Amino acid sequence: MTTIYLDNNATTQVAPEVLEAMLPYYHDLYGNPSSAYSFGGQVGRKIQEAREQVATLIGAMPEEIIFTSCGSESDNTAIRSALSTETGKAHIVTSRVEHPAVKVLCTHLSNKGYRVTEIPVNREGQLDMDRYKESLTRDTAIVSLMWANNETGVIFPVEEAAQMARDRGIVFHTDAVQAAGKIPIDMKNSTIDMLSLSGHKLHAPKGTGVLYVRKGTRFSPFLIGGHQEKGRRGGTENTASIIGLGKACDLAARNMEEENTRVKQLRDKLEKEILDRIPNSRLNGEPLNRLPNTSNISFEFVEGEAILLLMDEFGICASSGSACTSGSLQPSHVLRAMGVPFTMAHGSIRFSMSIFNTEEEIDFVIDKIPSIIEKLRNLSPYWKPDEQVCATGA
Ligand code: PLP
Repeated sequence: MTTIYLDNNATTQVAPEVLEAMLPYYHDLYGNPSSAYSFGGQVGRKIQEAREQVATLIGAMPEEIIFTSCGSESDNTAIRSALSTETGKAHIVTSRVEHPAVKVLCTHLSNKGYRVTEIPVNREGQLDMDRYKESLTRDTAIVSLMWANNETGVIFPVEEAAQMARDRGIVFHTDAVQAAGKIPIDMKNSTIDMLSLSGHKLHAPKGTGVLYVRKGTRFSPFLIGGHQEKGRRGGTENTASIIGLGKACDLAARNMEEENTRVKQLRDKLEKEILDRIPNSRLNGEPLNRLPNTSNISFEFVEGEAILLLMDEFGICASSGSACTSGSLQPSHVLRAMGVPFTMAHGSIRFSMSIFNTEEEIDFVIDKIPSIIEKLRNLSPYWKPDEQVCATGA
């Protein structure tokens, strides 16, 4: 059975060019990039090249790029850094729909005495900008808002939010783990101070990430140790993965157009056909202002986990809620924050595509999903086919 992988917001396949770029650094070119001799120095130069490739993808300067071990580490570093440099301030502003890398950290910090304000979203997952503006106070140390939501793909107006923070002298961080490589990011023309991204979401290996820190932003390291990353992140570099990440950023810049045309068309086709063919299904999230690859659809009167199991029998991989919440029977905090009714939130599936998906795969999925949902609904005591309502994107 072949695998149809529609879970690219959970992780992505390492691109063949990325793997090829990495391989020499495991075996032949294994020197420590910090060593004085040329066997190590050549590796150090290659890391520098990767830094430039990452910087180019997001319109930054190479010296503003810090390599980390993952998106979660980048998020933790950014928030903790601001709390340590913005002395006397103890307030964090974030949203209700952040990834656990930010959300759970903020809960932890609130247990330690920091004040945390979580800005609500509306039914379409859009940030309440009035509440955001009101939340910014003289005591606010940092704002951390995601660029794009991992479950729905909804894009937040982070540039506008960052400008409001800048006007009040507040540090602004964005978790761009899902946005990077899918939509344009240009830090040159931005007032965002810090930005996180993660390699494994854009066809680089797992266990590598980046924290962008705008030149001039006060910074306090999270991992203290050696002089690596100019003393901003101790620890011998994950050389091969960093080199792979550089290559992946290079490819992402070149593939962004395809991501926003072909991949988006596949996503739109899948979404339209599912909503047309299956009654009592609905799209979660603002239809237009979304990542081009993501579709979150709820099927009333069925359990997301049961749908995943039946899809798995056909080799179709997707997710119910985010990768980090699947396995738990709690409906996703993102859908709950959007006010998605309980019977809908439980039956939600996130399909997330990549440039490696084909039209044949999407047609196969469109063919299988209606019968999967019908089969499960026929087992449900709550499903009454005569009470069907039209599919809605609302
Ligand atoms: N932020 C968002 C929006 C994510 O989707 C993820 C991963 O799913 C992370 C942060 C965490 O990234 P990592 O898995 O690299 O720690």
